[in-house]
Amino acid sequence: MEFEPVIGLEVHAQLLTRSKLFCHCSTQFGASPNANTCPICLGLPGALPILNREAVKMAVKAALALGCRINSPSIFARKNYFYPDLPKGYQISQYDLPLGEKGCVTVFSGDRADTGKIINRREKSFGITRLHMEDDAGKSIHEGGSENAAKSSVNLNRSGVPLIEIVSEPDFRSSQEAYDYLIHLRKTLIYLGVCDGNMEEGSLRCDANVSVREKGALTFGTKVEIKNLNSFRFLQRALDYEIARQRRILSEGETISQETRLWDESGDRTFPMRSKEEAHDYRYFPEPDLMPLKLDPDWIELLQRELPELPGPKMRRVMEQYDIPADDALFLTGTSVMAEFFEKCARISENPRASANWIMGDLAYNLKNSAKDIADCPVTSKQLADLIRIIDTGEISGKIAKTVFEEMFRTAEDPAPIIKRMGLVQVSDTASLEPVIDKIVAANPRQVEEFRSGKTKVIGFFVGQVMKETKGQANPKVVNDLLQKKLKGD
Ligand SMILES: [Zn+2]
Repeated sequence: MEFEPVIGLEVHAQLLTRSKLFCHCSTQFGASPNANTCPICLGLPGALPILNREAVKMAVKAALALGCRINSPSIFARKNYFYPDLPKGYQISQYDLPLGEKGCVTVFSGDRADTGKIINRREKSFGITRLHMEDDAGKSIHEGGSENAAKSSVNLNRSGVPLIEIVSEPDFRSSQEAYDYLIHLRKTLIYLGVCDGNMEEGSLRCDANVSVREKGALTFGTKVEIKNLNSFRFLQRALDYEIARQRRILSEGETISQETRLWDESGDRTFPMRSKEEAHDYRYFPEPDLMPLKLDPDWIELLQRELPELPGPKMRRVMEQYDIPADDALFLTGTSVMAEFFEKCARISENPRASANWIMGDLAYNLKNSAKDIADCPVTSKQLADLIRIIDTGEISGKIAKTVFEEMFRTAEDPAPIIKRMGLVQVSDTASLEPVIDKIVAANPRQVEEFRSGKTKVIGFFVGQVMKETKGQANPKVVNDLLQKKLKGD
């Protein structure tokens, strides 16, 4: 029997506001424990929430960018549960009428070959069920592990920080699709400037629902929820593990039990969460302290108009406008800063292909080695474009250009002064190359014989010798022409 997985994702993204969702406390990460708290986010009796306009604006932008319909009004609701890091005894979330609904995103997703390489990258559409706003809980710290902690403490700096929860339709049929969607979603939120996408600091968190069914079946299998997926790699590994586990159970004729499981990073497996932690009945009811959220349609329209060019359309445009393949375009539009760098370089150099190659090759390599982001790149897009133009005029060879680039990256200088200072200009004039060629031809009579007997490939040997003698500065084309003449005895 052939099985197919059905996957849906729930993503929590922290909005980049300076203050919390319902109070004026700072959202700064890493402040000393409980420094960013007040009666509202501590849930003290009588404290009333005041909605943060900037958070609503960011949430609406995200909803629009994901193609959602905006509900006006949307309703805040209390999600009740008891946990030490939740002083109010409830989260303020949205339930019946979320801010956004029925969205759709188009993602360039591919298939993972056995080698791990992604092939067949193409556009696929995935549905967004809903996008709603909610406030975050605090954080419990258990010394000595959560089972038998010697001491537990709670940090409420995160309590009340604004989140959006983005729930997808169960549209993914492979772990790769889920992975590509999450990458796309993160990219979109970063493009919009509404989330920093930092999974390590918890600004982006992901839970997955996974079930497996007979291929072609119309009903879903029993789903399992996996929590704690705080990196892209974990998401993919946890999904692969869980799909294989469910396939095995079903092929043995057993049934899947509906449960919540956690990803165990060190054991490379998922394991069931204790059942008492998952037995939640949230008893949602409308938040009595907040009015239904009504939004001015003109304001929504304005935000729609002000949306930047989003990753999907940008990628499509870059592929067409510069004739760049999907995998390369994915890299070059990875962030808006990267996309801007590439486009500027392509425009000034008038050579998009070379711009792409330099950025994905030497530039990316040097950034990685020096642990720098493209935003802090010492070489500007104009400088790289200048270097490409110099190569294209034949003034220096591609090989020498690599040396020049290293120096540009190290010193942030323009290419021209570096070429001059290091004496790297390509030698193209026949007068200075001829003596070198004469010398090498004279020193290698055996290879000359070979050439004259028809083994013309040996010319590569001579070109190599000339390049070595001139420390890579000779123009290979001119050298080739001169050698042909010389060896043919013209
Ligand atoms: Zn507060």
